[in-house]
Amino acid sequence: MKFYVTTPIYYVNDVPTVGTAYTTIACDALARYHRLRGDEVLFTTGTDENAVRVMRLAEEAGVDPKLYADRIAAVFVEEWRRLNICYDDFIRTTEPRQLRAVQNLFETIYRNGDLYLGSYEGWYCVPDETFFAETDLVDGRCPNPECGRPVEWVSEPAYFFRFSRYQERLLQYIEEHPGWLIPEFRKNEVVSFIRGGLRDACVTRRSTWGIPMPPTIPHSEGLVVYVWTDALVNYLTCAGYPDEMGRFGKFWPADLHMMAKDIFTRFHATMWPAMLMSAGLPLPKQVAAHGYWTVAGEKISKSRSARPPRPEPVLARVMAETGCTQERAVDALRYYELREMTFGQDGDFTVEGLLRRYADDLGNDLGNLLHRVLAMIGRYRQGKIPPPCPPDATLHPAAVAAAEGWEEAVERLDFSAGLRAIWAFLAEANRYVDQQAPWALAKKGDEQGLDRVLYSAAEGLRISAVLIAPVMPQAADEMERQLGLSEWKRQWSQAKEWGLLPGGQAIGQAAPLFPRLETTKAKPAAPAEPKEERPMVSIKEFQNLDLRVGQVITAEPVPGANKLLKLTVDIGDERRTMVAGIALSYRPDELIGKKVVVVANLEAAVIRGVRSEGMLLAGWVQGDDKSITLVTPERDLPNGAKVT
Ligand SMILES: [Zn+2]
Repeated sequence: MKFYVTTPIYYVNDVPTVGTAYTTIACDALARYHRLRGDEVLFTTGTDENAVRVMRLAEEAGVDPKLYADRIAAVFVEEWRRLNICYDDFIRTTEPRQLRAVQNLFETIYRNGDLYLGSYEGWYCVPDETFFAETDLVDGRCPNPECGRPVEWVSEPAYFFRFSRYQERLLQYIEEHPGWLIPEFRKNEVVSFIRGGLRDACVTRRSTWGIPMPPTIPHSEGLVVYVWTDALVNYLTCAGYPDEMGRFGKFWPADLHMMAKDIFTRFHATMWPAMLMSAGLPLPKQVAAHGYWTVAGEKISKSRSARPPRPEPVLARVMAETGCTQERAVDALRYYELREMTFGQDGDFTVEGLLRRYADDLGNDLGNLLHRVLAMIGRYRQGKIPPPCPPDATLHPAAVAAAEGWEEAVERLDFSAGLRAIWAFLAEANRYVDQQAPWALAKKGDEQGLDRVLYSAAEGLRISAVLIAPVMPQAADEMERQLGLSEWKRQWSQAKEWGLLPGGQAIGQAAPLFPRLETTKAKPAAPAEPKEERPMVSIKEFQNLDLRVGQVITAEPVPGANKLLKLTVDIGDERRTMVAGIALSYRPDELIGKKVVVVANLEAAVIRGVRSEGMLLAGWVQGDDKSITLVTPERDLPNGAKVT
């Protein structure tokens, strides 16, 4: 099988942001996934350099336009290298192969009667490279809500593409190919755009910068191909058109064109397919538009004055806050973007959200699982993987379900659901270790049981590495290294198989997969996991606790104690006084009215002269008194409601 996936080629009037990174990371994850399946993959990206605006920006910068484009293209190449984007081809539209492809396609379209010479007069927005009708203008300015800049009156001879001729064929194609345009609600936008009537489109400009119209077309001197139509042709060029038609026949049509929503309806979902129809070429199999990243609710856009974050400062912050390497920060960013955004919808980008995902999903669910299991193999089995055992009755089906969940979700480009399916498996693996309690088996001297549980848990880790590899390739490599699998040839099918981890193999040197600053700074000699040594409690013993929802009525400092607050808490049938050591994390006024969870039957104690009757449940990062966070009902519950 072949798989050809494309990002749009990015304008060199801007540098990469977390928005363009999202498009590129999504395509990279798909490309890596298909390579793991054994498909022959062509994954392309690049830069769009023939815009008239590039010439103007270069003039402003006082450099030659080609040199200007070289500089910005290098910024993109460098950013994709940093983000571990493994593309097969990076095309720049100033390359000779693009000129050959564009001229060849235009000659074909001309021969087929879809190009005619006319005269174009209209309002032109230079930043958007778009003509607008007088009636489209808003207060005489560019109608693009992201732009709104002054427009120029342009009048010149120009070639037109008979877009109008394809109106019915496009509608019919859309109807006959459900799932061609993704997501569904955007398909409806496209249909109404086409039904609104397609006007023939001006496809040339008079300029000295850009791809000249083919000299075989009459009256084309001085005309270059309009940058938008030129840019779209890159998808053909990368597949080998027109120089290597054998290769082109293999890779074209593309399996997926991916882009942000702003260039979907007018260009990728209508203009481009119409051009291909005119040239007698098959259409791409899928065209998909994702939403925008917003920052605190505002769209990340190149046209806004507010600068969207570039990946680099985001990565620097993750490294500073966690103590992780750049590689791991990149994995975290890749994970966060794909996990957080519902494909097609807008998503809000926050570094805080990224750090939360880092701590919870990556540090706890994944990193801690690796750490725990390998530490026990070190402790109980001298660092050797126990002999393979038959498939575990819960873990193996859960792994198959995770792999299938990802497969099914990425068909719909629902990366978030795909990752949720994988994290359901990680939750199962964590639960497995908790329930099987290898430390208890070791204490009892159940060697066979211990072998079985440790092998199964390690096999779960091997499977996890395969599952996360498309999204976090470097973390997957590191997991395999720690499992002792450094020479492993990873394949997707291995996620559904059991028993591939060789018994007797020595595990690699352990290191925190997604470290935290507290743990990297903490004294090194604390490997004993206190969690493991805690006695088990029966359900009966647990039920002896009277846990209830309460509400803080008053809060005040306790004189002479900087960590303590004296609270009055309403627990339904009565009000209690409680002393809580949370003053470094909460101001008294923040607490008034807050719903909390209270241990109502704790023996009373006198603390600093105040009688305290009960205790508030809270979590904290060990050693950090400022990190105390009260447990609060996720939805509202009445005071006194039982917590079980
Ligand atoms: Zn504009």
